[in-house]
Amino acid sequence: MLGTILHGPGDIRCEEVAEPTILHPTDAIIRLAATCICGSDLWPYRGLNDVSQPMNMGHEYCGVVVEVGSAVRSVKPGEFVVGSFCLSDNTCPHCRFGFQSSCEKREFMTGAQATLARVPLADGTLVATPELPSADLIPSLLATSDVLGTGWYAADAGRVQPGSTVVVVGDGAVGLMGVLAAKQMGAARIIAMSRHKTRQDLALEYGATDIVAERGDDGVARVKDLTNRIGADSVLECVGTKESMAQALACARPGSTIGYVGVPHGVEFDGQKLFFTQVGLLGGPAPVRRFLPHLMDLVLSRKINPGKVFDLELPLADVAEGYRAMDERRAIKTLLRV
Ligand SMILES: [Zn+2]
Repeated sequence: MLGTILHGPGDIRCEEVAEPTILHPTDAIIRLAATCICGSDLWPYRGLNDVSQPMNMGHEYCGVVVEVGSAVRSVKPGEFVVGSFCLSDNTCPHCRFGFQSSCEKREFMTGAQATLARVPLADGTLVATPELPSADLIPSLLATSDVLGTGWYAADAGRVQPGSTVVVVGDGAVGLMGVLAAKQMGAARIIAMSRHKTRQDLALEYGATDIVAERGDDGVARVKDLTNRIGADSVLECVGTKESMAQALACARPGSTIGYVGVPHGVEFDGQKLFFTQVGLLGGPAPVRRFLPHLMDLVLSRKINPGKVFDLELPLADVAEGYRAMDERRAIKTLLRV
């Protein structure tokens, strides 16, 4: 079958690989309906994370179960399933508190940019749809697996309330999903920070009420202008750089909460400054499994269309072009047809 291997920085290839097999009784094997490239895949692709040995790429997935291990009870062959990029048992104390991304048995999904994939901890990770979904819903169901689940977590962790004012820092796919999530949670004012026309347009379509193109001090000044000098009730930090976190802290009013889901690279906090800023911080890898049933319902009932975030669609064999397009910011997010 075809699979995607990162051999070194910038060297990504779709090639013939061995089909996955059941290794543990709790595994399932799925046939991908579609897969995609994540912004976080660009870290090793750019050589910013260690790539000392070939890596099986891909952690966003949905598809049809073809085989299950002897201990799997909740899904069966023939069912259409979506799972989170964090694999969890969904029974340990952290899972029961809704933090499946800190599961005591947590593993991270790999190898999903392929025809078939092995999903460990299938019972605690996969959610089946009531029936096979129509083909046009596949991109949106795929989006629930990571990008929407992560944007949703940013809004949930940032404690977005009905009627509240929200700032979203970052106009990548996750930031755009954060806008969608804040809208669904009833935010009255959603300020999207974006400098790119196509991303601004999508943010507006997903529910942003204001666009701020400025960054740094100018960006903060614009947000203060829009919020009667107060700042936002919730800030969704969806980038993970030192600059984006500084932006988030400066846009947050005292007593607000920042939901941060951009994997930090170079972010540090000054204790005194944090103390006097007086904001709450909750972030980390999104516990997508907590939100999956609700998000899949919203997609299946066509209340949301997160799949629109995919603005480039390629066959799996052209995965290298998909990485290049995202690396060069020609594409927001690439969907791969298998
Ligand atoms: Zn667990």
